[in-house]
Amino acid sequence: MKVNFREAKSIITKSNIPSIDYVINPYTGCQHGCIYCYAEFMIRFTGHKGEKWGEFLDIKTYDFGKIKSQRYNGKSLLLSSVTDPYLPLEKKYQNTRRILEKLVDTEADISILTKSKLVTRDIDLFKQFKNIEVGISISTLDTTFAKVIERGASKPIDRINALKQVADAGIKTYTFISPYFPEITDFKNILEETESFTDQYMFENLNFRPHNIPRILKIVQEYFPQYLPIYEELRRDQSYWDSIETEIRSYCEKKKLPYKIEFHHGGFSKS
Ligand code: SF4
Repeated sequence: MKVNFREAKSIITKSNIPSIDYVINPYTGCQHGCIYCYAEFMIRFTGHKGEKWGEFLDIKTYDFGKIKSQRYNGKSLLLSSVTDPYLPLEKKYQNTRRILEKLVDTEADISILTKSKLVTRDIDLFKQFKNIEVGISISTLDTTFAKVIERGASKPIDRINALKQVADAGIKTYTFISPYFPEITDFKNILEETESFTDQYMFENLNFRPHNIPRILKIVQEYFPQYLPIYEELRRDQSYWDSIETEIRSYCEKKKLPYKIEFHHGGFSKS
């Protein structure tokens, strides 16, 4: 992992994600190195041309004292959108923690999203916020497959246990089933494992992008060759997503679980 320090011009930036006003990315790059990552385009914009996603990390340097917590009252802030706020190196550099310390007085809606068990370190801080929710993203409970698709992230079971600890501390939680891998993601299993401490579910489809298609197909071929024809077909016929959406709706409604489905986010998904 190539680690650099880079001065950031700003640390809380306007978001182009619908329903999120601002995003906070304490690092550039991501140690998790997910094979499907949609943030890989960052390589081009951050002076890392020729480098591989998941193999570099810029620790943003910034005068965190400049953060004015009241400026964001009534707004929504997501931490993070193109990195994970609880990367292994967060343990050492603590950018996420230092940013949160400056925001505790805010009346903004803060949403934390991670694939890391390190999130439990900041429970003491989460408790001080008025409006905060903490979520994990997860695609599978299969440790081996998770290691292949998200090599640097915490094991699925560790993420789940971390979320439970957060919930036990009285913090609002969500489980983001993302990305949904056709035939591989067993959403019912994930719901069963998390429903006693998840306040809200969200689902997002696997978005195929030119840069990730070869990697995804290679891994499906290696680990689930029986599903390869389905993945190939998905590139032509996207009605699969409609059927899985219907299945999720019916299951969540039957179990009275609060959920949102975001299955049509650009890329390869249904237009
Ligand atoms: S955790 Fe998110 S930002 Fe990091 S590599 Fe995975 S998908 Fe990309």
